[in-house]
Amino acid sequence: MRIPVVWSPATRRHVPRHEVWVGVPTPGTEVPERVDVILAALDGHPTYEATPHDDGFLRTVHDGELLDFLATAAEDWAAGPYQELVGQDRVVPYFFPTGALLAGMPPTPAAALHARAGSYCYDTMTLVGPGTWEAARAAVDVALTAADLVLAGDCAAYALCRPPGHHVTSHGYGGSCYLNNAAVAAEALLAAGHEKVAIVDVDAHHGNGTQAVFWERPDVRYGSLHVDPAAGWFPHVFGHASETGAGAGAGTTRNLPLPEGTGDGPWVGAVAELAEWVADCTALVVSLGVDAAGDDPESPLQVTEDGFRAAGRVLGDLGVPSVLVQEGGYDLTNLGRLVAAYLEGHAGPAAD
Ligand SMILES: [Zn+2]
Repeated sequence: MRIPVVWSPATRRHVPRHEVWVGVPTPGTEVPERVDVILAALDGHPTYEATPHDDGFLRTVHDGELLDFLATAAEDWAAGPYQELVGQDRVVPYFFPTGALLAGMPPTPAAALHARAGSYCYDTMTLVGPGTWEAARAAVDVALTAADLVLAGDCAAYALCRPPGHHVTSHGYGGSCYLNNAAVAAEALLAAGHEKVAIVDVDAHHGNGTQAVFWERPDVRYGSLHVDPAAGWFPHVFGHASETGAGAGAGTTRNLPLPEGTGDGPWVGAVAELAEWVADCTALVVSLGVDAAGDDPESPLQVTEDGFRAAGRVLGDLGVPSVLVQEGGYDLTNLGRLVAAYLEGHAGPAAD
């Protein structure tokens, strides 16, 4: 069995150009070519183009204000004075109304677009340009089309989502992510009647956005293994083992932070620990980042192709309908084969 692949040509339309990291513009790594190298490596899998879906599940996950901002930001920026002011066409926030600024006072929404952006974007690395919204919205359709395949009887379906999504909360975007594809897929599975949905996030970074969306929810478990934020890694303030959910969602979040340099043995062991934790789920979403690979420029983990294959096997062995949603993975030379290895593992021994 080869796991079906869902993609959309529109996901190529987002071009990050650069990130602003500690004051320095650095070339973006979440580039359109990621789509092409993954597709090339999955040649031979049944492949489908995403079909359009309405905003229903998207609006369950995200606040309408965030969606409206993202849908119009690039156009509004182009219509504003920015070409003359700064000579560049990307929406970059510079002003962030943090709790420290607000000091308990009720703020009046900012008038200027360059000030408004910081109400939604929480870092300086996640630029919005022409095509960003179209690509992010297409990625949601990719995730929902993959969920459709699984709900129609496929054991698993792979959603080639780009840009990735697991850093997006209900109200805010960042970490090279704009819309939370995995969370939207989980909502679709729930709505179709799955009572116990689990999200296992194997990306090298903690999926703070997904955690936030389901933090107080008893119906979706979120488990993640990732490089320890306490060692100085994004998203810095979340992803620690002490975070386990709250309210009705107490105990439904689980984090396994790993030391820098972690390789296949303990990494696959952590995947197995999460698999055991969600063993009674009726449907699974995997946030399939492959940036834990040794050569990836964005993380210090040292997972190999065999490690990803083994992780796929562990999660595939749960034997539940699974939507595999692409998150990070930035080493263009190896990205495709790492995704292919995971899918091969997830499909099980018959694919060997
Ligand atoms: Zn990542």
